[in-house]
Amino acid sequence: MWRRIKAHPQAWDILVVGGGATGVGVAIDAAARGYDVLLLEQSDFGKGTSSRSTKLAHGGVRYLEQGNIGLVMEALKERGLLLQNAPHIVHDLAFVVPNYDWWEAPFYGLGLKLYQLLAGKYGFGVSRILSKEETLEHLPTLKTEGLRGGAVYYDGQFDDARLLIHMVATAFEQGATLLNYVEVTGLTKDAQGFVNGVSVRDVETGNEFRANAKVVVNATGAFTDLLRLKAEPSATPMIAPSQGIHLVFDSSFLQGDSAVMVPHTSDGRVLFAIPWHGHTLVGTTDTPIATATLEPVAMEQEIDFILATAGQYLTKAPTRDDVLSVFAGIRPLVGATGAASGGVKTAALSRDHVIHIDRSGLVTVCGGKWTTYRHMAEDCVDQAATLAQLPEKPCGTHHLRIHGFHEVTKEEGAKQFGALAVYGSDANEIRKLITTDAGLSEPLHAALPYIKAEVLWAARHEMARTVEDVLARRTRALFLNARAALEMAPAVADLMSSELGWNEATCTKQLAAFRDVASNYVLR
Ligand SMILES: Cc1cc2nc3c(=O)[nH]c(=O)nc-3n(C[C@H](O)[C@H](O)[C@H](O)COP(=O)(O)OP(=O)(O)OC[C@H]3O[C@@H](n4cnc5c(N)ncnc54)[C@H](O)[C@@H]3O)c2cc1C
Repeated sequence: MWRRIKAHPQAWDILVVGGGATGVGVAIDAAARGYDVLLLEQSDFGKGTSSRSTKLAHGGVRYLEQGNIGLVMEALKERGLLLQNAPHIVHDLAFVVPNYDWWEAPFYGLGLKLYQLLAGKYGFGVSRILSKEETLEHLPTLKTEGLRGGAVYYDGQFDDARLLIHMVATAFEQGATLLNYVEVTGLTKDAQGFVNGVSVRDVETGNEFRANAKVVVNATGAFTDLLRLKAEPSATPMIAPSQGIHLVFDSSFLQGDSAVMVPHTSDGRVLFAIPWHGHTLVGTTDTPIATATLEPVAMEQEIDFILATAGQYLTKAPTRDDVLSVFAGIRPLVGATGAASGGVKTAALSRDHVIHIDRSGLVTVCGGKWTTYRHMAEDCVDQAATLAQLPEKPCGTHHLRIHGFHEVTKEEGAKQFGALAVYGSDANEIRKLITTDAGLSEPLHAALPYIKAEVLWAARHEMARTVEDVLARRTRALFLNARAALEMAPAVADLMSSELGWNEATCTKQLAAFRDVASNYVLR
């Protein structure tokens, strides 16, 4: 990637700042149209919100209740396209809404039928009302006290960081140049005051350089306003950041293959308990915060709220001791100025995306959600290309297959590749590594399915640069079981040392940095 940048003295057509779902989506779209694209990410791809979501490709049942039919239909279409283009990572999942009051079955049954119908040809499974017995067949560990029945509907589930890494590979295959660990520190302007490039710092070496571009796209999520302020110190803030957390437990808390969806918790939010990679993922909260940070930390009241709410629905009420990992993420919600500090409930702010062009010509794309990244990118590139006077080219991502695409069912994939199925067609390549060195099939920890070959693969082919990259986003060890991830870290550092030529001091520094980050995921 560095060689490509050095051999590129002319201005890039489109330069994207931010390597989350939004930025990488823009890079794919722009490169697939044939534009010359550079994407820069200050940390690792997905270090921001895009690895910290609930991992649902969904239309958002809740927005239906708010009457936002257009938003739901758009997201349902994107959900369908995601399943079509990345069937190795996205799967459908049954969600059960348990009913405890007589009116809930017809109410939710009807709403969820509408949800199914709005998906049209992009539909997943058929929604229907369940008897009490059927509800318990789906959810054997649901509390039975007062249970009348339920309603089932279907949405998509995926591994967010894994999809993102495969999207980075897709963008690269379409011709984009993408770098992690390169921070955009400033914006450069021409004589008329229009943004014409960026100044950047290589985080690994401290080297600084400039890159010119016909248009710069700001896809920095919760950090959107920081970059806008660099272009225009008087810019009015757009983002009202809101934190959401998840707790992860072992699979005994939610047996079966279905998820629980609680439409109205005591704070008026939706709560999910979802089977994910052999564990149970429970979330989320919606807490307005003043400023965004790259490594947000779960607040005590958020943890207590999720434990208490999960305990109302699950036969085995989870306690702090049961938490294997806790992670927080920040929603880049587009809100009224000062909404976060003014006490506006962020759960009510729009999940719709916004393309905003500042007077300086900086194009900002923000809001939306993971599920709608492709549509956000299409809108953004349409506008960025017009602004930069690039030759008009149609969007080509509707049917663009995501790297790793192979069309097998979840069950077939698991049978063929076990835990490597999430790599799609790359699973074959990882298997080949093992045939050259059988030791690479060794597991890294008894509690998790990850093997040594995955570390080599991540460092060689997926731009993993740190122990954290491997344990948090190339594998999901840190998100599934933080203590196990800490125990795996020395072995990972050893493998990376030989792969990337680290000396002992670098190795020690890497491990210390990982321990520091991982301490946020362990509940004491
Ligand atoms: C708790 C929670 C649950 C969610 N669940 C779902 C869900 O189930 N389904 C769904 O569809 N959506 C979900 N979302 C929403 C979804 O995760 C986000 O909309 C999406 O990930 C935002 O992606 P992004 O690329 O805009 O931001 P980010 O992923 O945060 O990416 C922005 C990137 O910009 C980088 N950056 C910032 N400044 C600079 C700079 N100066 N130079 C270089 N790089 C920079 C950051 O390091 C970061 O990696 C959820 C969100 C939260 C918080």
